[in-house]
Amino acid sequence: MKQSQLFTKTRKEAPKDEVAKNAELLIRAGFIHKEMAGVYSMLPLGFRVLNKIIGVIRKEMNAIGGQEMSLTALQDKNLWEATNRWDDGIVDIWFKTKLKNEAELGLGFTHEEPLTALMTEYVDSYRDLPIYAYQFQTKFRNETRAKSGIMRGREFLMKDLYSFSKDEKEHEEFYEKAKKAYGNIFNEVGIGDRTYVTFASGGSFSKYSHEFQTLTEAGEDTIFVSEEKKIAINKEVLNDEVLGDLGLDKSSLVEKKAVEVGNIFSLGTRFSESLNLKYKDETGSEKFVIMGSYGIGSGRLMGTVAEILSDEKGLVWPMSIAPFHIHLILLNDKENKASKAADEFYVELARKGIEVLYDDRDLRAGEKFADSDLIGIPVRVVISEKTIAENVVEVKDRKTGEVHKVSQEEFIRTFGFK
Ligand code: ATP
Ligand code: MG
Repeated sequence: MKQSQLFTKTRKEAPKDEVAKNAELLIRAGFIHKEMAGVYSMLPLGFRVLNKIIGVIRKEMNAIGGQEMSLTALQDKNLWEATNRWDDGIVDIWFKTKLKNEAELGLGFTHEEPLTALMTEYVDSYRDLPIYAYQFQTKFRNETRAKSGIMRGREFLMKDLYSFSKDEKEHEEFYEKAKKAYGNIFNEVGIGDRTYVTFASGGSFSKYSHEFQTLTEAGEDTIFVSEEKKIAINKEVLNDEVLGDLGLDKSSLVEKKAVEVGNIFSLGTRFSESLNLKYKDETGSEKFVIMGSYGIGSGRLMGTVAEILSDEKGLVWPMSIAPFHIHLILLNDKENKASKAADEFYVELARKGIEVLYDDRDLRAGEKFADSDLIGIPVRVVISEKTIAENVVEVKDRKTGEVHKVSQEEFIRTFGFK
């Protein structure tokens, strides 16, 4: 894409009321637009990153047997009354609305209820199970605090997968697979080394749930990390019993701030009993389906990467989720020699399937480089009168700052997708 055609511009300042580093950077670089506290629009650059994140998650969910679908945001009150989650005294983050006839509707903050009800029409016998269904969908939550940028939105995109299994054993096997798939996802987007499987409260059907907590000062959670075992415990559940259970000596744990980028939860028959989701086993007797839910905040993940993998100059995207692979920067000369060479190189890279943001704007070099650092595309390629004279392009790694010169042919031949 030619940068002259990108409608967003970088900005020197973020809105005055914006206090989160991730949102400040993403707004200044033109990835997101703040509509109001906790509500952000995705601009072209941000939407590309979000879609890459979705791609990474989708690949892993499909690999463990997930079937992608899309449920509605508008929710039938009756279903939520059946599970006792309609009352504002019980769930205090609902956004609710009304039909013209005054009937109340909810805007989904999660989707256990509608999906469990939907499955009663498709699940009959043990042959119909297991089922793993997931979606990327907008959730609405009337969060009290919305000071963490896109890490805590009132409207945000979530990947939510729900598992429907015959028995505990089948459930546990999938739960472990999901845990591994989550590990792969966080590695792939570049935060694996700081992300800990964290024991958290499990609700009525299992002792623990597992959160994936990523270390950052911007996080709202406190966890206790065991470096040795590569696991952590959420402060909410830390007591002697958890330390017995996990074989940990408390004194070996380190207290850290972290953000929950994902979680996996065994639901048992909590929802299948309330909404009557049953199947007939091999002997013909009826049993309730065992469920699990598995969430990842795709927007929160983007905010977390922005927060962690950035430096004083701006964002630093890993190749896997960068809005473009290469930022091609033209430093124009009087005779337009560089511009002709850069135009041609842009076309050639695109033909090879390499995603390029081409800064063809008529601006000073300093401004272009500052914008490029702020936007954070992993590889910068400069073409100028000087590089043409030397028959090379100048390549700079955004993360390390290393610069080297290579011929165009060599660059194309060796450009790898790390
Ligand atoms: P938190 O403890 O941070 O409030 P949660 O436990 O309520 O989150 P879940 O209901 O389990 O979160 O949602 C699944 C995932 O969705 C979370 O792991 C997180 O990544 C993401 N998420 C939750 N709330 C938000 C939010 N307000 N904005 C962005 N992402 C969110
Ligand atoms: Mg949580």
